[in-house]
Amino acid sequence: MASPRTLTQMTVETIIDHTPMVRELRLRNQSSEPFRFKAGQFVMLHVPDAETGKPALRAYSIASEEQKTDGFNLILKYVDNGKASSFVWGLGGNETLSFTGPFGKVFFQEPPIEQIIFLNTGTGLAQHLSYLLSKKDQFPNLKYKMLFGLRHETDIYFEKELTELQKTLPNFEFEYVLSRAWSSGRTGKTGYVQNFIKDFDFKNIPTTFYLCGNGGMIKATKEILIDQHGFDKTRIWAEAFD
Ligand SMILES: Cc1cc2nc3c(=O)[nH]c(=O)nc-3n(C[C@H](O)[C@H](O)[C@H](O)COP(=O)(O)OP(=O)(O)OC[C@H]3O[C@@H](n4cnc5c(N)ncnc54)[C@H](O)[C@@H]3O)c2cc1C
Repeated sequence: MASPRTLTQMTVETIIDHTPMVRELRLRNQSSEPFRFKAGQFVMLHVPDAETGKPALRAYSIASEEQKTDGFNLILKYVDNGKASSFVWGLGGNETLSFTGPFGKVFFQEPPIEQIIFLNTGTGLAQHLSYLLSKKDQFPNLKYKMLFGLRHETDIYFEKELTELQKTLPNFEFEYVLSRAWSSGRTGKTGYVQNFIKDFDFKNIPTTFYLCGNGGMIKATKEILIDQHGFDKTRIWAEAFD
């Protein structure tokens, strides 16, 4: 198996624009050697930088299942004037991208306990999606619950795919939480994902929390769980993107 420091070249096989601000890249390994990772890990994209002549490195959580070793999927959010964002939104398909990795130690805890709660914001879905896709066949009967935080209703993405996942994981529930008002007549939760922690029964049901995305959300969630509810901090696993 290649070391995480080895440069891996991947071909951009498919580009899916879920919204104008969220782009999925499906990448295929150019080497026949398997690219192995554990769900929860991330890779470093080497972004060509003509100014410095050295690549700029940016971390992206792998959004696909760990059983797939011939490539992986990434889900990226566009950041204004961002180096990686400008580069990725300039891609048209078939380009070669260079990565190092996998890195990271935020793994799905096994053996799992009864209830798994995912709180994510933006593209924080990526890490949680990898857990779900990787573990669904092994642990189909866990109570999987997800709150997916976004700003506007037009930012909603991956709804069809998560609904599809419910066919194989009947105990998987997910709900969007918008920080701005719902606008099209559809209703749902408004606020921040952490405002709805109280709605989960994590006191009576053995629970592991996974948090991913905005660092402010992660900090606030930990404060609520640990400081206000005395929740066991060893059962909270978090990856901040900023
Ligand atoms: C472990 C880890 C995993 C990550 N996984 C993902 C992932 O799966 N998907 C994903 O989209 N991102 C992920 N990120 C964030 C990613 O690494 C980049 O920081 C992000 O894509 C911005 O890079 P950029 O080069 O486009 O912007 P930069 O050139 O780095 O930044 C441009 C400007 O935007 C600001 N900025 C940077 N990031 C953000 C942000 N998220 N929101 C608002 N403003 C920002 C900067 O402060 C700067 O002013 C991850 C980060 C970490 C640490």
